[in-house]
Amino acid sequence: MELADTALNQHAARLRVAILGCTGSIGTQALDVCRQHADRLQVVACSAHSRTEDLVRFAREFSLKRVAVTDPAHADDPILAELPDGCAFYTGPDAALSICLEDDVDCVLVAIVGAAGLAASAAVLSSGKRLALANKESLVVGGDLLMPLARKDQLIPVDSEHSAIFQCYLGEDPRRAHAIWLTCSGGPFYGYTRDQLSHVTVADALAHPTWNMGAKITIDSATLMNKGLERIEAMHLFAVDMDFIQVVIQRQSKIHSMVEYDDGSVIAHLGASDMRIPIQFAFSYPDRWQTPAPRVDFRTIGSLDFAEADADTFRCLALAEQAGRRGGTLPCVLNAANEVAVAAFLAGSCSFTDIDTVVAACMDAHDVQPVQTLEQLSDVDAWARAYARSVLSARR
Ligand code: NDP
Ligand code: MG
Repeated sequence: MELADTALNQHAARLRVAILGCTGSIGTQALDVCRQHADRLQVVACSAHSRTEDLVRFAREFSLKRVAVTDPAHADDPILAELPDGCAFYTGPDAALSICLEDDVDCVLVAIVGAAGLAASAAVLSSGKRLALANKESLVVGGDLLMPLARKDQLIPVDSEHSAIFQCYLGEDPRRAHAIWLTCSGGPFYGYTRDQLSHVTVADALAHPTWNMGAKITIDSATLMNKGLERIEAMHLFAVDMDFIQVVIQRQSKIHSMVEYDDGSVIAHLGASDMRIPIQFAFSYPDRWQTPAPRVDFRTIGSLDFAEADADTFRCLALAEQAGRRGGTLPCVLNAANEVAVAAFLAGSCSFTDIDTVVAACMDAHDVQPVQTLEQLSDVDAWARAYARSVLSARR
């Protein structure tokens, strides 16, 4: 079935967009893209979890038709009385779905953080609308369920490396691909020993050298769990196995990833380290619009460095590899345990190296099953979160 009724085929019409997680790093950058291309993009609906003041501001600026607040603790915030006339308000467990599955939406950007984005990603794919997917956890946890739902050109990755790989495959025969080179900045602790890692602070870990992102992914980038999650994400998106995807440190974050072909040619995607570029591409594809970000001047870059990632020190990378190879429900456990451990680290209640210790303990304790349903994944996720919390309390 073609994506017939959407603006994907109507170049004259504006693409009607819903943004789930509009108040975050990706969400606000997506809104900036929409501001810069107001003649091509119409924001119809947005969700926020807790930042209701920002949501109300965006509802007024973009004349939104619908908004959702997904955190019940914020559903009665007094500021919501200032939503513009005619803007429908939703809350409750299905609120995000209620605002994005209507007929007046062509494309949904899932920019929610964590496994909480999975249900929305699945529902958007089932609806036939375009899914601009920033929420990598959806694929890590539920890739086995999501990918069979995705029609050709329906799921466009927003994660910069995956957007890059997607573009390196354009016009090529994927059967002639030999390897994917997944680039990694190395994060703020590149070159650290295990002992040094055990003493880093939250402020150290939040100081990412090349990207400005939400707190959870910034910690994942410091532990290299982010790269581990991205390797699993790439396995699903490009239907390849773990060995096909090589992680390589590229400190400047200027090469966003590469695909190597059988004949030895390597196609790389380069550009500014600015998420607005892949976000916009997920909206404009297959077209390209004027850049929303400053262009790269290659005369000023200097050098591009490459190195091997250290999976012995950054154990999250090895744990993600183990989860990706084993498959089934193990990536769900990896992800849920990581979410709990990262939240604990950010709250100051565990050390940086406790993160991989907690994840490893949960993975060891889990009896892996094939992935069958969203409900099953939700149960496994809940079990892993509870187990991770018990491991954390035992360490205190
Ligand atoms: P942020 O933490 O900045 O934003 C997260 C968004 O999700 C906010 O709008 C937040 O609402 C909302 N949210 C939080 N918890 C829930 C929940 N339980 N249910 C529904 N909504 C929720 O994250 P980022 O923007 O950095 O990341 C978003 C996703 O994009 C992640 O999956 C990340 O891995 C991925 N990504 C991010 C990149 C980046 O540069 N930031 C790069 C590549 C991928 P509120 O703020 O109102 O509480
Ligand atoms: Mg990325």
